[in-house]
Amino acid sequence: MIYIGNHVSVSDGYLAMGVGESALGGNTFAFFTRNPRGGTAKAVPQEDIDALKDYLARENFGPLVVHAPYTMNLCSAKEDVREFSLRFFAEDLARVEQLPGQFLNFHPGSHLGQGYDVASKQIAHAINEVLKEGQTTTLLLEVMAGKGTEVGRNFQEIAGIIDQVDMKERVGVCFDTCHVWEGGYDIVNDLDGVLKEFDEHIGIDKLMAVHLNDSKNPIGAHKDRHEKIGLGCIGKDALLNVVHHPLLQGRPFILETPNDDAGYAAEIKLIKESF
Ligand code: FE
Ligand code: FE
Ligand code: ZN
Repeated sequence: MIYIGNHVSVSDGYLAMGVGESALGGNTFAFFTRNPRGGTAKAVPQEDIDALKDYLARENFGPLVVHAPYTMNLCSAKEDVREFSLRFFAEDLARVEQLPGQFLNFHPGSHLGQGYDVASKQIAHAINEVLKEGQTTTLLLEVMAGKGTEVGRNFQEIAGIIDQVDMKERVGVCFDTCHVWEGGYDIVNDLDGVLKEFDEHIGIDKLMAVHLNDSKNPIGAHKDRHEKIGLGCIGKDALLNVVHHPLLQGRPFILETPNDDAGYAAEIKLIKESF
């Protein structure tokens, strides 16, 4: 049993996302809590939320990996940006809570010259602010490619943030294969070694979701350019090894490849048929 799906648009509402994903052959998906470039989040009618909740249970979907907007930067050097980011973060967590037990995935942020130590404190502070007793959502820090001043460019940087979180049981990590590869980890020739390193620094139980992407760039490029499965520098075989790795079974795998629906359906089919 694999949970596989792709990033989908929320524009037709919540239930439409579930039904649409089934049509592509998937059984999990990701969507943006609001326009990825920011802006206000449209209120979703309660009946649509309930309809999706029922649909996910009935169709045995895996946990969703909801994505926070890119404009959110919890460790910006500008205080006003940190403030609206924290507001987005709290609001988006409340929205994801309407669908109990899912993941809310976010980019740690870019420190814009402040340096990692300041940034990691700000990110952990924001996490500590939004997490409250009784919530069911797990927050996922995404490992980044290390473009510009991105925080979370390696496993140590992710671990350093989690160390400062109070409710550690409510925080995990999203392992983006494109980011990890461009961050300098050789998942092509030494996936076991990379996962061992992840385990040593963060703990493998914290690896709760995977973004399954090929990369347009060679290892260590730090550029973050996703490619279709099999058309990039990671390649189909290495990505299938990720999907089949014994330590990663049961995790939701989300495609963020540059595709239309037909392309996503083909990638989902490829992965399902590899089992
Ligand atoms: Fe992401
Ligand atoms: Fe990603
Ligand atoms: Zn990316």
